[in-house]
Amino acid sequence: MITGKNYIGNQLSAKGSNTFTTFNPELNLENETVFTEATSQEIDEAVNLATTAFKEFRTISGTKKAEFLNTIADEILALDDTLIKTYCLETGLPEGRAKGERGRTVGQLRSFANLVAEGSWVEATIDIAQPNREPMPKSDIRKMLIPLGPVVVFGASNFPLAYSTAGGDTAAALASGCPVIVKSHPMHAGTGALVASAIVKAAQKTGMPNGVFSNLNSSGIEVGQQLVKHPKVKAVGFTGSIKGGRALLDAAAKRAEPIPVFAEMGSINPVVILPKALENRNQEIAKTYAGSITLGTGQFCTNPGLLLGIKSDALSSFVNTLSQEIMDINPSCMLHPNIKKGYNANKEKIVSQKNVAITANYESELQDNYANQAIVSVSGKSFLENPTLHLEVFGPFSMVVQCENEAELEEAIAHLEGQLTGTVISDENEIDNYESVIAALQNRVGRIIFNGVPTGVEVCESMVHGGPYPASTDSRFTAVGISSIKRWVRPFSYQDWPNNLLPKELQNENPNSIFRTVEGERTKNKI
Ligand code: NAP
Repeated sequence: MITGKNYIGNQLSAKGSNTFTTFNPELNLENETVFTEATSQEIDEAVNLATTAFKEFRTISGTKKAEFLNTIADEILALDDTLIKTYCLETGLPEGRAKGERGRTVGQLRSFANLVAEGSWVEATIDIAQPNREPMPKSDIRKMLIPLGPVVVFGASNFPLAYSTAGGDTAAALASGCPVIVKSHPMHAGTGALVASAIVKAAQKTGMPNGVFSNLNSSGIEVGQQLVKHPKVKAVGFTGSIKGGRALLDAAAKRAEPIPVFAEMGSINPVVILPKALENRNQEIAKTYAGSITLGTGQFCTNPGLLLGIKSDALSSFVNTLSQEIMDINPSCMLHPNIKKGYNANKEKIVSQKNVAITANYESELQDNYANQAIVSVSGKSFLENPTLHLEVFGPFSMVVQCENEAELEEAIAHLEGQLTGTVISDENEIDNYESVIAALQNRVGRIIFNGVPTGVEVCESMVHGGPYPASTDSRFTAVGISSIKRWVRPFSYQDWPNNLLPKELQNENPNSIFRTVEGERTKNKI
C-alpha cells in the first residue's frame, strides 16, 4: 500500500533518482520501503496543479469542504492497523501514543469540518450604504476572510500524525479554502504516504479539484527550499527547529513577493516554582515534573526545560528529589538517531558551560537510540550571564535555575527568549505577592499555566499554541485549535458590489444563516 512515490494531486509519481528509507529506532535498522524524492519538475507540477485547483476550491461551499474534511478523517480511520504499525515502525513510539495521536488528528479534522459547515468563521462584516449622508454619501462596504492560495506544510518530526500530513496546519488550510502541498517528513515518510492516500481518496470521493492536495517526499532541505521559493506558493506552515524555521522565514522574506511563514519552533517552557509551594509540596512537584520532563522521551515542544525558583533549603531539596525521581524512570527511545545525536550534542553544550552542576544523568549503558535523561542546576547569575544556557535541549532534560531573590527571578524571566508556555507553581494565595514576576512571564509566553504541567496541549477554541519569537514567527496566531485557520486567510472588502455577485456570506438574504456584524451589531438577520 505504501508505494514510496509522491502524490502530485491524485497521481502517483516517482521521476527522480534520489531515494531514501525510513528508520526503526527501536530495532536500530532501516525500514524496507524505498521512497523517491520529488524532483524540481514534480515540485513545479504540484504547485501548478494546486494553483489551478485553487480557482475552484476557494469558492467551494462550507458544507462541501466539511464533507471533504470528515471523509479524510474516515479514510484515516479506515487505514486502521496498517497506519498504527507503520507509525510505530518509523518512530519508536508506542501503539498507545499512535492511537492517541490518530484520535487527535481525526478530532481536529472534524472540528474544522464543523467550523466551516456552520460558516460564521469568515467574520462577515457589513456597513450599509448611506446615499444621502452629508457632506458625502457613504458606500456599501462588506468584508470577509478569504483564502490566501496554495499553502506548503512541513511535516513535524515529533508528531507524525497530528502536526504532519493531515495535521493541524493541513486541516486548517484546507478548511480555509487553500490547496495544500505537504513536504513530507523523511523520518516518517511511510506514515505520511498512508495519510496522503487517505486525503487523495477523500478528495476524489467528495469531488474536490485535482491538486487540492499533494504529498512530496524529500530527504534533504532542497525540496522544502524550492517549495518556499516557488512564486505560486502563498504561505508556509512549519513545526521544528529554530534553525529550520528561521531558514524558511528568511527564504520567504527574500522572495520577490514575500509570503508569511508560520513556524512553530523551539521552546524551553519556563516553570516558576514559588517558595511556599516548594516548602509544602516538594515531593509531589518533583514527581509530577520528572514525569512531564520524560513524557514522550521529552520530545514535545511544550517540554518543561527550565525550572526557576528562589534559593532556599526547600529548592536544594527539590533539586535532589527531582534528580532521584528522574533516575527512577526507565529511559525510552527517541524518534531517530539524528534527534538523539542532537539531544546529546546540546546536552553536552550545556553541561560543558561554566558553573553548571549535573545533579542527575542516567549513565548506564542503554539500547541504541534511547535517551539518557538528565537534570542540571545553575545560579540565576550564571543563567543571566550566559545565553548558551537558554539553548533548547530537545529530549528528557531540564535545568533548575536558583535565583538569589525575587528581583533576580524577574530579571531571569524578562531576559528569556519567547516561549510557547510559562507555568507557575504556587500555594493558594502565594501568587498574589509575585505580580511583577507573573507580568514578566506573561510578556514572554503564549500560554500561562497555574499549578500544572505544560505538556499536553488541549485542542480547543481558546487554546493558544504560539508565542513571541522564536517560539513562533508570528505571536498573533495560534497553531492549535480552530482559530489557527486565520493564518491562511486575509480580510477582503467589496465596495458597492451588486448583491447577486457577492459571496453568499455577504448577500442581503444571508442564505447560509451565519452570524454577521451588520452596522456594528452581531446578528443572523437578513438586510
Ligand atoms: P528540523 O531540522 O527543523 O526539520 C524540520 C523540517 O524542516 C524537515 O522536514 C527538514 O527537511 C526541513 N528543514 C530543516 N532545515 C531546513 C532548511 N534550512 N531549509 C529547508 N527545509 C529545512 O527538525 P527535525 O528534523 O524535525 O528535528 C530536529 C530538531 O528539531 C530536534 O532535535 C529539535 O531540536 C527540533 N524540533 C523542535 C520541535 C519543537 O516543537 N520545539 C519539534 C520538532 C523538532 P529535511 O528533513 O528534508 O532536511
